Amino acid sequence: MEVIEVTKYVFQLTLPIVNVFLVDHPAGLILIDTGPKGSKDLIFEGIRQTGKQPEDLKYIILTHAHHDHSGSLAAILGSVNVPVYASALCAEMIKKGIAFEPGSKVLSFLLKLITLFGLIRLQFLYIEPIKSSVRTVQEGDQVPAVNGLQIINAPGHTSEQIALFYPVKEALLFAADSAENLKSLKPAYAYQSAKINLQTLKKLAAFPFDIAVFGHGNRVSKENFKKMSG
Ligand SMILES: [Zn+2]
Repeated sequence: MEVIEVTKYVFQLTLPIVNVFLVDHPAGLILIDTGPKGSKDLIFEGIRQTGKQPEDLKYIILTHAHHDHSGSLAAILGSVNVPVYASALCAEMIKKGIAFEPGSKVLSFLLKLITLFGLIRLQFLYIEPIKSSVRTVQEGDQVPAVNGLQIINAPGHTSEQIALFYPVKEALLFAADSAENLKSLKPAYAYQSAKINLQTLKKLAAFPFDIAVFGHGNRVSKENFKKMSG
């Protein structure tokens, strides 16, 4: 696991298959996404590497319910009792322990395969259900409420996905999985709709950010993000 200082107040923890982020906000430490199952210790180690302690965590925000973003939420909440913020659909899904949207094309296809080839429970479709209450957020809300990260509905990759805009000096766009920058910068796989995802990318490109970060791959400049979003 690598800890990258994106700006003075924002850190990327590069876990084996996904990035999660720490924001050192005046109101307390914010964790954005929680990695797949088994990531708690790595995340806590990352927090210590930034000079903070896991007990400094004050907020958790989930961008979407996919297992690589939400899989360690239950374990983290077992150690630190902090409020979790997510979109209404995401909140509903993680309380049931569902990581993939019911009714999505891919899910129906996978369930068909499972029925055809035996009763294999595909682990990545599920997470440990979240027992504590989840605070639902809508477009325009801020977490925390004063000078916080602004919630942006960002459907397309999944319908429940949110992105976040942090309007500080080096302004950040947390683009979640709307795009990825692994081998190259491109729109991420759209489980809901590629067309809706492209609309989301255009919407995100209009925010006055300096740096965009993703769930998968390295940060990019606004200029490169704009080029990709067309
Ligand atoms: Zn995803």
